[in-house]
Amino acid sequence: MTATTPGLVCAHHHLYSALARGMPPPPRTPRSFGQILEQIWWRLDVALDLELLRASAMLGALEALEQGTTAIVDHHESPTAIEGSLTVIAEACAEVGVRVVCAYGVTDRHGADGARRGLEENRRFLTEGGRGLVGVHAAFTCTDATLEAAAGLARDLGVGVHVHVCEGPEDAAAPDRLAGLAREDWLLAHAVHLPTRPTLPGTVAHNPRSNLNNAVGYARPARLANPVVLGSDGIGAAMLDEFRLAHLVHRADDVTATPDTAWGWLEAGRALVPETAGDEVSWDYDPMDPWHVAFTPGIRPVRVVVDGEVVLDEHGPTRVDAAQVRAHAREQARRLHARL
Ligand SMILES: [Zn+2]
Repeated sequence: MTATTPGLVCAHHHLYSALARGMPPPPRTPRSFGQILEQIWWRLDVALDLELLRASAMLGALEALEQGTTAIVDHHESPTAIEGSLTVIAEACAEVGVRVVCAYGVTDRHGADGARRGLEENRRFLTEGGRGLVGVHAAFTCTDATLEAAAGLARDLGVGVHVHVCEGPEDAAAPDRLAGLAREDWLLAHAVHLPTRPTLPGTVAHNPRSNLNNAVGYARPARLANPVVLGSDGIGAAMLDEFRLAHLVHRADDVTATPDTAWGWLEAGRALVPETAGDEVSWDYDPMDPWHVAFTPGIRPVRVVVDGEVVLDEHGPTRVDAAQVRAHAREQARRLHARL
């Protein structure tokens, strides 16, 4: 009994964080979103080199494919290995057979030179024909000049900006600082504290699992006039799980909520990578409709076709050896964790 759907899209991912699981705990227990960034993610990203990034992206792409996710919209930062990093991610995804939309998260956390190099990596990748958006970490880690430069680069290249907006209270000034810069083709990740009116133009990527993990509150995306899509924020790319969770947190907030709303968010992700409409995912379950999937854990793909090529069949991924990718990732994760 199988049903076939188009490919799923993870609309906000961090492939660089796939090796984070099992990392040594921070020296002090983080007590806020800002402390989680400082003590976990900003220690991890600075420790990445391109070989670690490649292993991380391969593992993340493999895990996406195994869940029927044929496209990833990635947001990347590796402050000590900026140059070439987007190409490493794009090549890793291509090797596994998953589509990816790359962005380098520009930030002034490492000074004006760090911001300049981040912008340049976006420019290099996009002008060399890479598929992507211009990345910005978040307004609260950027100067106005950097925000304007990123917005200008995106306009010049005819792409949107992929940016974290109002994920935590630290970024409360983002709506004011981005007003006048943001456009409809921007991708606004999290938007937990984004005002309902006036909102910013752009698509909102809702990341329910990550928001729960960081205790930043419920984004209540149903209140927003923006298009809403679903992301994992780096915790895998199991988009049916993300859909189930998006429905449950919606339901916990509003007992009249139905799975159709979260299903609509899942399907809206396809607008970001329209070719996924032609990808085919055959699932070990039928029917694949919101009321079934919301209450049926463990549904898995048995066959995935991307761009006319079978990239996963009943034996697993066809282009890479899954066991080998995992073994290499484990080895590289040990090297990364030793640096922390
Ligand atoms: Zn994120």
